[in-house]
Amino acid sequence: MGEISNGISKKEMKIPEIKFTKLFINGSFLDSYSGKTFETIDPRNGEVIAKISEGNKEDVDLAVKAARQAFDHGKWPRMSGYERGRIMMKFADLIEQHKEELAALDSIDAGKLFAAGVHGDIPHSLNLLRYYAGAADKIHGETLKLAGEYQGYTLKEPIGVVGHIIPWNFPTTMFFLKVSPALAAGCTMIVKPAEQTPLSALFYAHLAKEAGIPDGVLNVVNGFGHTAGAAISSHMDVDAVSFTGSTEVGRLIMEAAAKSNLKSVSLELGGKSPLIIFDDADLDMAVSLASLAIFYNKGEICVAGSRVFVQEKIYDAFVKKAAENAKNWVVGDPFDPRVQQGPQVDKQQFEKVLSYIEHGKREGATLLTGGKPCCGKGYYIEPTIFTDVKEEMMIAKDEIFGPVMSLMKFKTIEEAIEKANATKYGLAAGIVTKDLNIANKVSRSVRAGSIWINCYFAFDADAPFGGYKLSGFGRDLGLNALDKYLQVKSVVTPLYNSPW
Ligand code: NAD
Repeated sequence: MGEISNGISKKEMKIPEIKFTKLFINGSFLDSYSGKTFETIDPRNGEVIAKISEGNKEDVDLAVKAARQAFDHGKWPRMSGYERGRIMMKFADLIEQHKEELAALDSIDAGKLFAAGVHGDIPHSLNLLRYYAGAADKIHGETLKLAGEYQGYTLKEPIGVVGHIIPWNFPTTMFFLKVSPALAAGCTMIVKPAEQTPLSALFYAHLAKEAGIPDGVLNVVNGFGHTAGAAISSHMDVDAVSFTGSTEVGRLIMEAAAKSNLKSVSLELGGKSPLIIFDDADLDMAVSLASLAIFYNKGEICVAGSRVFVQEKIYDAFVKKAAENAKNWVVGDPFDPRVQQGPQVDKQQFEKVLSYIEHGKREGATLLTGGKPCCGKGYYIEPTIFTDVKEEMMIAKDEIFGPVMSLMKFKTIEEAIEKANATKYGLAAGIVTKDLNIANKVSRSVRAGSIWINCYFAFDADAPFGGYKLSGFGRDLGLNALDKYLQVKSVVTPLYNSPW
């Protein structure tokens, strides 16, 4: 394995200064009500990066009050969509000016590749912001065709105060996936970043203010899930919660919504996505796709292609090439441009992945390659491939959220479809084949929200994204996402003289 763990100077690493560590409420950075802080840790070495104000119920109350005031009496929901879009465009321009600094914050906080941040996460997030900025003045109701002498139309109104609770694996993309359509719709909001990755969201809040987003519209309350997160999902004055995270916490959020004010809930949850490779596939392409699908972002991706099904004729050749590829996959410091995989986000995640690897070995799967920590004192794990994986094994069923591929063989299309669907999740699936009929058949038969044919991670601002089954409900991305942040109101009036 081409390991790189040191030898890069701090200057080359572009370690950013940490400028924002407090909560952002009503346009100002504030200490938390309790005065408490928590540490955010650099997964490259386990060292403390900064102490961050720890939001709790009182801080969520304050942020919701600010968001409520901004919604009920402020300019943002009342200004024209065009004007909101113009301010969002300015927000995007400001982010672009700071993109290296922002990408570096996510690299030290989450262990994400710096190059992927600069060329992937941040441009993708800018696309989202600009896409929804463009949609802000195109949110229309409909003219209704009513029976009798009435005319009617619908109005689409912002839903109100929204709570966005997000995970740590894509701190920047998750922030804009949620915030962009909600801003376009005219909502006000509280964002609760994951406790592992609090840094970039605070910088975005600062830039939002600089762009002209009024105070109280976008608040950021860092803190833990069972305190700050739970305070949002059970709050009586939050109108909607948009959550991305684990299925387990998704259930808690629905429960809290049901027990409080029946706020609207949308959930983007876990996955165990299949990648199905047919005999006619180009082998090199299939191996590259499969490696990227599981090792990119160290496997910390809800749509990671963690179950790879390979048709029997090319299975042996695929296994050989995939092993070579994994051995050459470069793990190390995320600031090094040669590196393809950084450290897992934290110690807990690192240990969880290693324990799944141990389970796989105990359950009788064959460890083809990897399986060990590497690269010094950070939370680095070798790209790992198991063969002889059986459907009932934990490594084939559970979401590992790490660089661990489970390889399985199949004979027929029907068998591939059945195996692909044999999971409680339904977030995404990949198909590799040159045969259009196979691609069409499989894409219609697999129960998942995104299907990628001869590609993977083909996200786009215009392509709706979300889950079937225990992967959740509701859609991010695309114009559909606006619906999560809008209410539909019917307005009816007599066409001629009122009969009343
Ligand atoms: P998590 O569910 O533990 O945490 C996600 C967020 O929820 C964090 O901000 C956390 O603080 C908060 N939270 C935790 N407990 C809470 C509670 N009781 N009430 C309210 N909020 C609470 O998930 P994670 O470990 O941060 O992320 C990994 C999981 O997220 C994986 O299962 C992964 O598949 C999923 N994920 C899904 C998507 C998607 O788009 N479907 C994207 C990324 C991650």
